[in-house]
Amino acid sequence: MKTDTIAAIATAVSDAGIGIIRVSGEEAVFIVHKIYQNKEKRNVLAQYAANTIHYGFIVTENGDILDEVMVSVMKAPYSYTMEDTVEINCHGGALMMKKILSAVLHAGARMAEPGEFTKRAFLNGRIDLSKAEAVMDIIHAKNEFALKTSVNQLKGSVSEKIKTLRDQILYEIAFIESALDDPEHISLEGYEQKLSDQVFRITEELEKLLLTADDGRILKEGIRTVIVGKPNVGKSSLLNLLMGQDRAIVTDIAGTTRDTLEETIRFGDITLNITDTAGIRDTEDTVEKIGVEKAKKTIKEADLILYVIDSSEALDENDEAILKLIEGKKTIILLNKSDLQEVTDKKAIEGFYASVFDHNSQFIEEKDISLLRISAKEKKGLEALKNLIEEDFLHGKIVSEDELYITNIRHKEAIADALESMHQVKKSLDAHMPEDFYSIDLMSAYASLGRILGVEVGEDLVNKIFAEFCMGK
Ligand code: GDP
Repeated sequence: MKTDTIAAIATAVSDAGIGIIRVSGEEAVFIVHKIYQNKEKRNVLAQYAANTIHYGFIVTENGDILDEVMVSVMKAPYSYTMEDTVEINCHGGALMMKKILSAVLHAGARMAEPGEFTKRAFLNGRIDLSKAEAVMDIIHAKNEFALKTSVNQLKGSVSEKIKTLRDQILYEIAFIESALDDPEHISLEGYEQKLSDQVFRITEELEKLLLTADDGRILKEGIRTVIVGKPNVGKSSLLNLLMGQDRAIVTDIAGTTRDTLEETIRFGDITLNITDTAGIRDTEDTVEKIGVEKAKKTIKEADLILYVIDSSEALDENDEAILKLIEGKKTIILLNKSDLQEVTDKKAIEGFYASVFDHNSQFIEEKDISLLRISAKEKKGLEALKNLIEEDFLHGKIVSEDELYITNIRHKEAIADALESMHQVKKSLDAHMPEDFYSIDLMSAYASLGRILGVEVGEDLVNKIFAEFCMGK
C-alpha cells in the first residue's frame, strides 16, 4: 500500500533544549535528503544505513543553514510506524522547529494529523488498538495509577487477556460449527454441559474485568465531585480550603458564585475533580438560572456530592429542593460554620430528611450519606473529610503492579456487550435451544471483544480514536 509521507513536530512546541521533527512514509529519507547536508556540505542522507544517527545541517533551498542537527534514519519495518522514518533533532525553540517543519513540508511531506503516526503503527499491524490507546493514555496520564495502567496496557496486558478470551470463545464456535457440518465424526453429545461450564467461566472473567472498570476510571481520572448548597453557606470557602489557594471568589452577597468552577485536587492516590456549583435556590435571575441548570446536569453525572449546610441557620425549602436533587447520590453532608452557634445539627438533618422523604429518621443511615461537622473559616474538619473520601473510594483498592484494570470507556462498553451475549448463550443453554443459537451469540461476544483490539472496528471509529492524539504522536 502506497502512503504519502507525513511530518510533524514530535516534541512540545515550547522553548526547550532540543526539539524533534518526525517524518514518516515511503519518501521520508528522500525528502529529508534534499534539505540535509553533512559537515562537507554534501547531501548524503540517502546513503546512510538504517538505524544510524548523523550530525549535520538542515539547509534552505538556497543552501543557507537553518540549524545544526542530529538526524536519525530508520528503515521499514523497524520504526514506530513500521515505515521509513527520519527524525530531525534540532534546537528546541518554537520558531526553529516551525522553520524546519516548514522546510520538510516544502520538500514534499504532508503535515500529519493528530495521532497519525500511531494510527500508521496500528494500520501497519505493529500494535493493536488497545495498545495505540495506551500510547495516548501515557501522554495524558495525570497520576501514578494512570501511568502504570497505561504502560501495562501498552505492554499488552489488556490485549493478552482479551485475546485469550476470544480464543476460548472461538474454539467453542468452531467446535459447534464443525459438529453441525460433520455430525458423523464429531458428536455434540454431552456438549451442553461442557459449554455451560465454559460459558460460566468466561462470564465470570468478563464480570471481573467490568468491575475493575469503575475503580479504574475513578483512580485514573479522579472522583467527579460536586459541591452543592444554598448561597452563602461556605461552598467557595471550602473549595478554596481544598485548593489551598484563593481560586473561587468568596463574597458575603448571596448568589455571587454564578457559574460552575472546576478544579482538580490530589489527595495521595486519589484525585478529586471538583465542581463548585452556583448556589441552588429559586431564582428569577437568568444568569443564575443557567448556573443552576448546569448544576443539575453536573449532579447527575457525579460520583460524589459534597452538600454544604450552614449549621448556624435553619434548613428551609431550598434545602428540601437540594435533597431531592441529590437523592440516590453518594453524599457527604458538611455541617459548615461549626465555629458558630449550632442551629442545625445531625439530628435536625435526619429529621428534616425523614420529613422530606416521608420516612423514619433512621432512613438516612441506610442511604449513601455521611455527615461531618467542619469549619471552612477555621480550617477544621478537612482531614476527617479526606479520610472519609479515601475510605469510601479507596478502601481495599490498592493498586498492585500486575493487576489488570480496564480504564478505557470504549473497552468497558465492549466487555459489557460481550457479557450480554454470554448471558444470552446461557439462556439458550438453559432452554436447550438448538446448537446454532449458541454460536450466534458466541460470535457476537467474539466480535464485541474484537472491538477492543481494533479487529472489528469501522474506519470512522479508528479515525475518531486517533484524532484524540496530540500532534507528532
Ligand atoms: P458560598 O456562597 O456558599 O460560596 O459561600 P462563601 O464561601 O462565599 O461564604 C459566605 C460567607 O460565609 C463568607 O463571608 C465566608 O467568610 C463565611 N464562611 C464560610 N465558611 C465559614 C465558617 O466555617 N465559619 C464562619 N463563621 N463563616 C464562614
